[in-house]
Amino acid sequence: RAYARQCLKALDTTAALLRDSEAMLGDMDAIAGDGDHGRGMVRGSAAAHDAAAVALERGAGAGSLLAAAGDAWADKAGGTSGVLWGAGLRAFGERLGDAETPTPDVLAESVRAFADRIASLGKAEMGDKTMMDALLPFASSLEDRVAAGTDLENAWAAAAADATAAAASTAELRPLKGRARPLAEKSIGTPDPGATSLAMVFAAVGPHFT
Ligand code: ADP
Ligand code: MG
Ligand code: MG
Repeated sequence: RAYARQCLKALDTTAALLRDSEAMLGDMDAIAGDGDHGRGMVRGSAAAHDAAAVALERGAGAGSLLAAAGDAWADKAGGTSGVLWGAGLRAFGERLGDAETPTPDVLAESVRAFADRIASLGKAEMGDKTMMDALLPFASSLEDRVAAGTDLENAWAAAAADATAAAASTAELRPLKGRARPLAEKSIGTPDPGATSLAMVFAAVGPHFT
């Protein structure tokens, strides 16, 4: 169960990172949204970590562990991003499966499954100023680099750098989905909180997944 343990560590890293970023993400969400993005991400990731620890204790493999973590995230986070993160994490786990150390292809496909699930639930497209604006560049960049034969560690790090740049670029956009839409004008000049947190999390978990 070495890979399942790595997944639990990834969730531990995620929960710690989001605790440290709670105020920053809340302030960002308060500009045009309702200010709860930091709080929601902290609650969701903490619940996901705890559910994963229980699953590991019961002998779950990596995919089952992440699926259970996703259910807990959706259940406890509250808010739009929590539902989407939770469902996405479940889809990631389902595609990953419980076999030991996934191949780079399977990992890239699992990220794509995460993105597809969130896209089908949230129906946001590239440029709508949501987490999709960081997630889709991450998924495509990882796929391209894996297909080109780049080793997984470097492929993930490069995809994370692309997602970070893409999240920063959302500052110039006007939100077309979610709670920030009514105050869209105020949002211009500030990056989307959901895209920002997603890029941060994907960058931080790379060393555990690769
Ligand atoms: P809420 O908006 O319910 O308060 P959060 O503040 O936790 O939830 O999350 C807000 C983030 O959710 C936004 O910054 C955006 O990235 C993301 N989001 C909102 N609506 C959608 C959607 N339809 N599809 C994808 N992401 C979305
Ligand atoms: Mg909010
Ligand atoms: Mg809210």
